[in-house]
Amino acid sequence: MSQDKIIIVLVGSGSVGKSCTALRYIQSKFVEDYDPTIEESYRKMVIVDQIATMLEVIDTAGQEEYRSVRDKNLKIGDGFLVVYSIISTESFLQISSLHQAISQIKSSKNFPTVTTGNKLDLEKQREVPKKDGEKIAEKFSSSFIEISAKTGQFVNDAFEELIRKIRKFKESESNN
Ligand code: GDP
Ligand code: MG
Repeated sequence: MSQDKIIIVLVGSGSVGKSCTALRYIQSKFVEDYDPTIEESYRKMVIVDQIATMLEVIDTAGQEEYRSVRDKNLKIGDGFLVVYSIISTESFLQISSLHQAISQIKSSKNFPTVTTGNKLDLEKQREVPKKDGEKIAEKFSSSFIEISAKTGQFVNDAFEELIRKIRKFKESESNN
């Protein structure tokens, strides 16, 4: 069997913590002040359910200003971590249009996503109830998880869930 290779794209409003989430997963560290204008991609061999995968993680930035770049990333992504911040209703309100933008580029409603509420460590400043996150994820047939890039809580779970969904999706596509 040829080697499993997967591209994950992180999307979401500015400052929800996409870069911190990518760095937490790839490098197991928290970078407090990552340049918000940098778009970066990372490669890492990961093992999930005893299967090795060459993973590429694309951390997007400045999506509104660079629509063509965004569209290119949406096109090549095998799956998407759709990120908002639990302390920002504004970022949560972008979630629907993000799902719709991916759907439009993919010309399909069926693609692997995990909807992710970040900054779980800031519970005291929470603006978005967990229930609201669950509801919107369900609407878009997405998985849902709240994480903290700062503490690392549930970050691996979010990526692993997405990797499993992408594998299943690829399998079902190759059977058609
Ligand atoms: P991006 O614009 O979506 O890439 O957001 P960044 O990853 O650059 O993060 C934006 C800001 O939120 C930075 O000041 C981070 O230090 C902070 N941040 C990111 N994730 C967390 C988190 O889980 N908890 C807390 N408390 N702050 C976070
Ligand atoms: Mg960033």
